[in-house]
Amino acid sequence: MVQFKKLRLSGFKSFVDQTELLITSGMTGVVGPNGCGKSNLVEALRWVMGETSAKRMRGSEMDDVIFAGSATRPARNIAEVSLLLDNSDRTAPAAFNNYEEIEVIRRISRGSGSNYKVNGKDVRARDVQLLFADAASGSQSTALVSQGRIGEIINARPISRRGLLEEAAGITGLHSRRHEAELR
Ligand code: ATP
Ligand code: MG
Repeated sequence: MVQFKKLRLSGFKSFVDQTELLITSGMTGVVGPNGCGKSNLVEALRWVMGETSAKRMRGSEMDDVIFAGSATRPARNIAEVSLLLDNSDRTAPAAFNNYEEIEVIRRISRGSGSNYKVNGKDVRARDVQLLFADAASGSQSTALVSQGRIGEIINARPISRRGLLEEAAGITGLHSRRHEAELR
C-alpha cells in the first residue's frame, strides 16, 4: 500500500507559514493545546486527497481553508497542501504506478477554486480521488475520523452505513470507476 511520507502546508487554515510534517512508519502523534491546529492538520490531509465539501472542512465555502488573517498577519489569497507518497512497493493505481514517489498538490486561489497536480502534471480532482479510493485513505475514508463523527456513524441511516461497509471491504474504488465508465 502507498505510504504517506510528508505533508506540507502553506497558507492553509492556521498554517500561514510553510509547515512540514514527516510521517514515518509506525505511529505519529500530534499533541498540543486546544485550537493549536491538530484538526486542521488532519483536514489538510483530507483536503489534498480531494475533499469537495466545505462543510466537512468546517467552513461555509472552500475559500475558508485559506489563512484568513490574524491581529498581526494579513490574510492570504492562496492555500497549498502537498502530500508525498512512497510508492516503492508499486501498489498505486495503474495511472500513477511508474513513479517511485508520488507528490500530490492541491492549491486553491481565493475566488477561483482548486487545482491539482501529480508529480508536476495538472490532473483532475477525480484522478486524485481515484488514486486514494482503494487505499482506504481517501477524503471520505473511515480511516479518518473527525471530532464528532463517531456519534454521526452510530446514528447513520442504513444507506450510509452500507457505504462504510463497502469502503471497509475495499470496493469503493470499483464503484467510482464503474460510475466513471457509465458516464463516458
Ligand atoms: P482542539 O484540541 O480543540 O480540537 P485543535 O488543535 O484541533 O483544537 P483546530 O481546530 O485544528 O485546533 O484549529 C482551530 C484554529 O484554527 C482556530 O484558532 C481557528 O481560528 C484557526 N483557523 C481555522 N481556519 C482558519 C483560517 N482560514 N485562517 C486562520 N485561522 C484559521
Ligand atoms: Mg481538534
